[in-house]
Amino acid sequence: MHQDVERILFTEDQIRAGIDRVAAEVTRTYSSTPFTVVSVLKGSCVFASDLIRRIPIPLELAFVSAASYGEGTTSGALQLNFFPAESEIQGRNLLLVDDILDTGKTLSRLVGEMHRRGARDVKSCVFLDKPARRAVAFQSDFRAFEVDDLFVVGYGLDFAGHYRNLPYVGALRKECYERPRSAMR
Ligand code: 5GP
Ligand code: MG
Repeated sequence: MHQDVERILFTEDQIRAGIDRVAAEVTRTYSSTPFTVVSVLKGSCVFASDLIRRIPIPLELAFVSAASYGEGTTSGALQLNFFPAESEIQGRNLLLVDDILDTGKTLSRLVGEMHRRGARDVKSCVFLDKPARRAVAFQSDFRAFEVDDLFVVGYGLDFAGHYRNLPYVGALRKECYERPRSAMR
């Protein structure tokens, strides 16, 4: 797996420092407000689990899954699943946590859906932000890092289901996303 990474963009140490900073911002924002972290699966599972352990105030945890069809490096139609129960959304302050804010379609749709289902307040927190790729007007309330417009993997981010378990964030070698899935190591 490591040999498929052309360049490391964020090391484990850098990631730790970025998460400490974001966790402090989130903690300040919700210091006197009960809230629920909603982890957007699958990509945010690594980030969300590190993030919540650095937030030393009460919070609840819920999950929603967002998948866009297609195995390439661009996204297609969005499929939302496993919404939190009504009681976990209605009247609640939600913090949507996602791996990367790219075109903005996933998060803007999710924020709208949560409001539609009765959330009191919806904020968002992303591990990575790629502002150059934005297709809909959307800004996250918190973000750990900004990245240039290139396809990244690791720390929860996948290519065709793989590489989520890399402990750092890296850019994939071009050969890796141009070769068929069956050739993947
Ligand atoms: P958006 O709806 O903002 O376009 O896309 C968000 C989703 O697209 C992310 O949650 C992620 O699954 C996928 N995505 C966007 N850019 C990248 C990237 O550079 N690497 C990976 N692995 N996934 C990405
Ligand atoms: Mg993904």
